[in-house]
Amino acid sequence: MRLKRWLGLDTLRGLLRFYTLLCVSLPLLLAAGFFYFFQRGQIIDDTLSGMAETLATERSVLRSWIDERFDDARFLALLDGTRTGNTDLMRQAFAKYVRTHPSVSAVVAVNQDGHTQVDSSGSPSVYVGDRSYFLEARQGRDSLVAGIIGRASGKPICLFATPVARLDGTFGGLVFASVQLDALDVWLRQTTILGQGKAVLCDAEGRILAPSAAVRVASGQLTGRIAPQALGAGERGAVYRDADGREMLAVSVAVDRGGLKLVRQEPAAVALVGYRSQALWVAAGALAAIILISPLVLRFCRKLEQPLETLSRHARELRSKEYDETCPLAAPPDLPREVEELFVAFSAMACDVRGHIDAIEQLSVQDELTGLYNRRFLFSSGLKLVAAALRAGQPCCCLMFDVDHFKRVNDTFGHQAGDHVLAHIGTLLTGAVRRSDLAARYGGEEFAVLLVGADLAQGLEQAERIRRAMAEKPCEAAGRSLSVTVSVGVAAVHDSQEFGEAAFDDLLARADAALYAAKAAGRNRVMAE
Ligand code: GH3
Ligand code: MG
Ligand code: MG
Repeated sequence: MRLKRWLGLDTLRGLLRFYTLLCVSLPLLLAAGFFYFFQRGQIIDDTLSGMAETLATERSVLRSWIDERFDDARFLALLDGTRTGNTDLMRQAFAKYVRTHPSVSAVVAVNQDGHTQVDSSGSPSVYVGDRSYFLEARQGRDSLVAGIIGRASGKPICLFATPVARLDGTFGGLVFASVQLDALDVWLRQTTILGQGKAVLCDAEGRILAPSAAVRVASGQLTGRIAPQALGAGERGAVYRDADGREMLAVSVAVDRGGLKLVRQEPAAVALVGYRSQALWVAAGALAAIILISPLVLRFCRKLEQPLETLSRHARELRSKEYDETCPLAAPPDLPREVEELFVAFSAMACDVRGHIDAIEQLSVQDELTGLYNRRFLFSSGLKLVAAALRAGQPCCCLMFDVDHFKRVNDTFGHQAGDHVLAHIGTLLTGAVRRSDLAARYGGEEFAVLLVGADLAQGLEQAERIRRAMAEKPCEAAGRSLSVTVSVGVAAVHDSQEFGEAAFDDLLARADAALYAAKAAGRNRVMAE
């Protein structure tokens, strides 16, 4: 609730702005978010399939390289010297072959008993009859042995072994060429495509064989390894985090020779370089759209808020009786039709209310017959009027009037004629006093007038003027001219100290007493207290 208030959501303005801005921003932000996640996945998938495609090409290149090495080994195995077991011929042929093939570190012939017969590197004869490649050769099959470290070079080598058939067709041992795998460096570097990781050749256990920059050797063992996630990524590829926590993309393919595998991997960040800027553009676009649309939205909100706020303000003014502001109400220009209708209806309502309240207020303070203030108003406002005047250092006078022998008027001319006379007296009194004074009907045919700023002498003077005017201006009623006289009592007050209800009652009582004195003295006269 407090949050709602803090956000301004308890006001029409807050609600309108919040929800309209939400309606504009949310779809844009959702679109940007959708793009961010969907596009990211798409780019990773595309990169992985691109890497797999490249890797497939590399595998076919590698296979033909391997096939060529086997062709060479078979060529050496088919030489007459090799088939007849002529060691001199073999030595010459092997030496020539090694000279013309820099990547070949040695060519070795093994006899049918498993002993090395000729070794181009000059190593002494060793027994290899228990090695897998010898057993394969005896079955008439070629074999490729990987994961070996060359004794002389200290670098990884591969053996391409092929069986030798004697001239009579019987098993005559085997020939193997030992090839240094750094021969693949140039090729692996050449096929590196911009933006994609380099291909790495490894054995079935993930030990890195090539390129030589990636190879790690410690105490005659290959120690550099491909991450298992990358090794098992397959042609569909995999995304994983490396030891440093970097997100990596990897693809792997089996070469189908000697358990070899080709692996490509690269940091996802490299693949997503272009995507980052794309995502930024999309985010910037969404933001720009929000910034551009927001003023329109706010304008729309204002168009609704402003007139309703104005109406709300006018309603408050109406409640605090500031009718002049609210009636009649000028509607702001270019309002939506419904709101304009609301303004017009509100304005009419405000004017009606104002009229009714004015009438009620008037009725509550006015005497209907004479148009003068009534007795209630005399007591409620007269006291304040006199007190304010006294505070301002002004004296005040109270004039108490009573119509002489009024009963006779009623008796002689009728009650209606009597009413006319009372109304006539009301008119005369209203015309005789200033706006700052107060003239009221005190009782049946008795009237009280409060004169502000008048001392006793001025009060007497004014009373006399009114008395004379009444005597001289008869009332036209019942088809004749009715002349009535009044008796007047006058009392004054100067002292502002402790002027309250009692003092006001006392002022009226004193004027009343003077009035009775005037009656007693013969009527149609003015008497001071
Ligand atoms: P005095 O000179 O002593 O004042 O004689 P009076 O006849 O005026 O005195 P009284 O108080 O006996 O009579 C007042 C009369 O005023 C009585 C009443 O019928 C009449 N009266 C009071 N109110 C009205 C009114 O509203 N209309 C009419 N027509 N007569 C009223
Ligand atoms: Mg009387
Ligand atoms: Mg009288």
